[in-house]
Amino acid sequence: MSDLFKNIVSHSKEYGFIFQSSEIYDGLGGVYDYGPYGVELKNNIKDYWWKAMVHNHENIVGIDAAILMHPDTWKASGHVDAFNDPLIDNKDSKKRYRADVLIEDYIAKIEAKAEKEIAKARKRFGDDFDEEQYRTTNPRVMRYLKQMEDISKRLAHNLKQNDLEDIKLLIEELEIADPVSGSRNWTEVRQFNLMFSTQLGNIAGEEGKLYLRPETAQGIFVNFLNVQKTTRQKLPFGIAQIGKAFRNEIIARQFIFRMREFEQMEMQFFVRPGTEMEWYNYWKEMRMKWHRAIGSSADSLRFHDHDNLAHYANAAVDIQFQFPFGFKELEGIHSRTDFDLGAHQELSGKKLQYFDPEINENYVPYVVETSIGLDRMFLAVLSNAYTEEMVPDAEGNEAERTVLKLHPAIAPVKCAILPLLRNKPELTEKARTIFDDVKFAFNCQYDEKDAIGRRYRRQDAIGTPYCITIDFDTLKDDTVTIRDRDTLAQERIPISRIREIVEQKVDFRQLF
Ligand code: ATP
Repeated sequence: MSDLFKNIVSHSKEYGFIFQSSEIYDGLGGVYDYGPYGVELKNNIKDYWWKAMVHNHENIVGIDAAILMHPDTWKASGHVDAFNDPLIDNKDSKKRYRADVLIEDYIAKIEAKAEKEIAKARKRFGDDFDEEQYRTTNPRVMRYLKQMEDISKRLAHNLKQNDLEDIKLLIEELEIADPVSGSRNWTEVRQFNLMFSTQLGNIAGEEGKLYLRPETAQGIFVNFLNVQKTTRQKLPFGIAQIGKAFRNEIIARQFIFRMREFEQMEMQFFVRPGTEMEWYNYWKEMRMKWHRAIGSSADSLRFHDHDNLAHYANAAVDIQFQFPFGFKELEGIHSRTDFDLGAHQELSGKKLQYFDPEINENYVPYVVETSIGLDRMFLAVLSNAYTEEMVPDAEGNEAERTVLKLHPAIAPVKCAILPLLRNKPELTEKARTIFDDVKFAFNCQYDEKDAIGRRYRRQDAIGTPYCITIDFDTLKDDTVTIRDRDTLAQERIPISRIREIVEQKVDFRQLF
């Protein structure tokens, strides 16, 4: 783990954002609990997504489907047969890995070498540097890029053809070693189904076998007609859902990036066949805008086309975010054709069609999906916001502070109400009166413990945009000091303006 990533993980725990699940029993791998500030931030991210997708689109509606579904759902969707990851064990360390991830990590190392060469050249040539030209003419960089492309193509081909033997061969040819022990003593590659199964109470054996949903999308597909009929939506229209999903990941790692229990925010957009690419491009752009609006820089986001299309897709792209451990998938946009509705129609024997009055035809709609992991988004937001910097302290000396520069609309606490001294009842009573007024407008916090400077630091560490200090002047003229998290500017304002100032800053409309 890089130092930055380690600091983010320990900050998350220290300030009550994220805890390891069942920590007192030494934890459960790949499962995490959200603490008091974590739950607020997570709810705000959900809210941002829901407002952007559902409330801002007349033709998108929401649902909340159950986690348990009829087991045939997962036969039709292809998850029983094909929701597998290629697994490989190291015979010496007894550690288990995803074979494709070992190869992807190898590719990432070559990419890092290429980027290092390019960075060196940029430094050498200064303003005259033409990166594109360098990429296409420098022999060493070209060799790295070609190597990356060859390996990616072979991996994608093998995954598509289910050629597990060649995946093993590739690992051997590249001399990939166990990252922990350095051993190259590998088992064969096997497929491993990622669904968690459980048992229905009243039916024994295979018959009663159920799965915890590995994605929320299928709850939307099976409800397609229920929703379309009850809301009288015309195509194109979408159904959105936020909910838990479960995957028995072979290795859950990188904190909340890859979990076994996680949350997804998915939207399935139903369109007339033949128009899907138009909508695919539309959603690609819309989703990228959504990410940028929350404060992620353009440099930290990129599109990545899939080398290996899933069985249901005719086009697919990931939005990747530059996490502290490199660019990784944050969201997927997939053109799923009529695969899912078609498969459910066939297995259930129930028609899942739409009558299109414009062309006077019945058909199974095509689907464009946007699918984002809420927890991954949480990690992206946290990585983007986490800042260590030097700022002047109360005496004017430089001091280090850790601050979460979260967009105010998603900050867990919007404003902190701080009486200057805790043992002066006239100050604490006044502060309480203010707190009791603003708490109905937004989430705020009353804090009277420790010196004011320490309280400011505590609020910085959880990303609170404003601190309000109540002092002796407040008792005379009903004014308070308002401190801005980012600029550290302090201003004297009347109590009557607190709500208006904070509300304006934390309003979700700032994001749209
Ligand atoms: P990956 O390649 O990283 O395993 P995926 O392509 O299988 O992801 P999708 O099935 O497209 O992922 O799921 C959509 C989104 O759900 C992903 O973009 C990601 O944000 C999130 N997601 C998927 N698996 C996990 C997981 N194990 N933990 C946290 N989030 C996840």
